[in-house]
Amino acid sequence: MSEYKKPLPVIQPWSKEFWKGSKQHKLLIQECNDCGIKIFYPRLHCPDCWSSNLGWSQACGRAKVYSYTITLAGVEEKFAEDLPYVLAMVDLEEGIRMLTRIVECKPEEVKIGMDVEVTFEDVTEDISLPLFRPSAKR
Ligand SMILES: [Zn+2]
Repeated sequence: MSEYKKPLPVIQPWSKEFWKGSKQHKLLIQECNDCGIKIFYPRLHCPDCWSSNLGWSQACGRAKVYSYTITLAGVEEKFAEDLPYVLAMVDLEEGIRMLTRIVECKPEEVKIGMDVEVTFEDVTEDISLPLFRPSAKR
């Protein structure tokens, strides 16, 4: 694994479990054990009922593209090698909307409503980033 030069997530006590899951190639989402809502991004308290009684569950990894943009230019040097790339918001089956990148396809193949699935890029020994690729069942 060559040295990773792009920014890495800052791991907080309340997001540690999420990144631990990503490292194991599991997409974890928080759930409130009191009111039952699913929560993303990871937090200390439920945004709905303010409970701190939160747990984790593994998402199935299937999602649909809600919206996206193709980045063609105008990025910091460290991102230039990735151009063009697709930044997207995807809706997980669990009802979570997540900002991510769409990979393993040409940018022009990405469409709103397209089925995608999670994949993980191992960027350092401790960090794997959840990204999405076209679903295999297309
Ligand atoms: Zn709650």
